[in-house]
Amino acid sequence: PVVDADEPICMRTVDLATTAQEEKKRLLKRPVLRSDEMIAKVKPIVDDVRERGDAALLYLTAKFDKVQLEAPVLLPPFYPPPSSAAGKYQLDHAVKDAIDIAYANVRKFHAAQIDGKALVVETTPGVTCSRFARPIARVGLYVPGGTAILPSTALMLGVPAQVAGCEQIVIATPPRPDGSISPEVLYVAHLVGAHAVLRAGGAQAVSALAYGTQTCPKVDKIFGPGNQWVTAAKMLVQNDTEALVSIDMPAGPSEVLVIADDGSHPAFVAADLLSQAEHGVDSQVVLVGVALSDAKLAAMEAEVDKQARALSRVDIVRESISRSLIIKTQNPEEALQFSNEYAPEHLILHLRDASTLVDRVKNAGSVFVGPYTPESCGDYASGTNHTLPTNGYARQFSGVNTQSFQKHITSQEITKEGLEKLGPVVATLADCEGLQAHANAVRIRLGI
Ligand code: NAD
Repeated sequence: PVVDADEPICMRTVDLATTAQEEKKRLLKRPVLRSDEMIAKVKPIVDDVRERGDAALLYLTAKFDKVQLEAPVLLPPFYPPPSSAAGKYQLDHAVKDAIDIAYANVRKFHAAQIDGKALVVETTPGVTCSRFARPIARVGLYVPGGTAILPSTALMLGVPAQVAGCEQIVIATPPRPDGSISPEVLYVAHLVGAHAVLRAGGAQAVSALAYGTQTCPKVDKIFGPGNQWVTAAKMLVQNDTEALVSIDMPAGPSEVLVIADDGSHPAFVAADLLSQAEHGVDSQVVLVGVALSDAKLAAMEAEVDKQARALSRVDIVRESISRSLIIKTQNPEEALQFSNEYAPEHLILHLRDASTLVDRVKNAGSVFVGPYTPESCGDYASGTNHTLPTNGYARQFSGVNTQSFQKHITSQEITKEGLEKLGPVVATLADCEGLQAHANAVRIRLGI
C-alpha cells in the first residue's frame, strides 16, 4: 500500500472561506485522463478486430484475459446457464430473488420514461409538425468484468434497452478464467431478452460491437462503463464514419459528493463516503460540511477510520480516502454552489430539509435525498440508473435512461392552404440564400 497501515485513514480538509480562487479551481478538478495516449494504444487492438474479426478476438482474449475460447459469442437461452447440469454455475436463490426485485424496480422506473406519444403542433393553420420516438435498432452493452462481476450494470443497461424496444441487444463482458460468464450476468441477459453475449472485454470487445465480426453482430450504439481501454476504444470508434456508431458518454472514475451538517449521523455519512471509496484507488470522494462544528467533523473522521479498517477492500479505501477532500462551507447556499460547480456523478444530501434543497441542484448525475437514502440503493435496486456522467460531464450529460435507447424523428404535413400561407415566406428565404431550386419547389406548387 502507498499509505502506511498504521496511519489514520483520513481525508484532507480545506476551508472554502480561506481558500484562494486558484486553489478553489483545483479542488473542482478530477485526475487528468490522457485520452490521446490511450486512444493511440487501443488503435492497433481496434484495427486488428476490425480487420480479422473473430480470429483477432480469440487471439486478444487469450492475450489479455488469459482464456483460450473456441468461439466468442454465446446465443440464447442464457438461463439456466449451459453448464448448470454440472451444478457448477447454479445461481444462489437469494441472489436470484434480489435480481428479480431490482429488475422489477428498474423496469418500472424506466418503462415510465418511454417517450411513446407523438408530439403534434400546428405551427400555422395547415402546417402540422410532429416528433415521435423510435428505438435504436441494435445496441451493445459493455458490462465490465476485469476485477468484479457486475450483474447490476447488465441490469442498468439491459432494462432500458428492453423497454425501449431495441431489436437486438448484445451484451459484451470479459470471460472468467475458465471461459465462462457468471450465472448472475447470464440471468440478467435472460431477463432483458439479450440476443447475444460476447465473451470479450476491453478495446477488442468495443471494436467487435462497432464493426461486427463473423459471429458478433454490429451495433448502432455502445453503452456502458469500463476501464481506460474500454473508454478510449469507445471514443475512437465513435469518430470513425466507417463504424457509424455512437456511444452513451465518456466515462471516468466514479464519484460521490456528500453534503452534511451538524444534524447528520456521522456513521451514515462515513458509510456513504466509503461505499464510493471502495470502488477503486481513483474513486473521487468529497464531503462538503455545512457549518460543521469541530466535534462533529472529528466524529465523522473517526467513523471513516473505524469503518474503513473493517472493510475487505481496506487497501483500496486507504488510498482513495487519502486523496479525498473535506470542504468546509458556511451555509447550504455555499455548499450547493460548490456542488453545482463540481457537478458530481452522485450527490448525497445528508442535510435537514434535504428535500427542499433538491430544487437548487443544477448539475449532478443522480441525487440521494435524506439520511435514509444511501447511494447503494440507486446503484442496485431503487429503480434509477447507475450509469451516470462522471468527470464534471453532469453539466451537459444525463445518465443513461430509456430515451438513451431511442431517437426522435420529426415530420411535417402541409395542406394546400397551409402552403399558400407558408410558401411565400419559404420562397423569400430561399431567394435570400440564393437557392433557386428550393424556391422553385414552392413556386411550382403555388403557380407564383
Ligand atoms: P473492464 O471489463 O473494464 O476491463 C477488463 C478488460 O480490459 C480486459 O478484458 C482486457 O481485455 C482489458 N485490458 C486490461 N489490461 C489491458 C492491457 N494492458 N492492454 C489491453 N487491454 C487490457 O474491467 P476492469 O478493468 O475491472 O474495470 C472496470 C471499470 O469500470 C472500473 O474503472 C470501474 O470503476 C468501472 N465501473 C464503473 C461503473 C459506473 O457505473 N460508473 C460501474 C461498474 C464499473
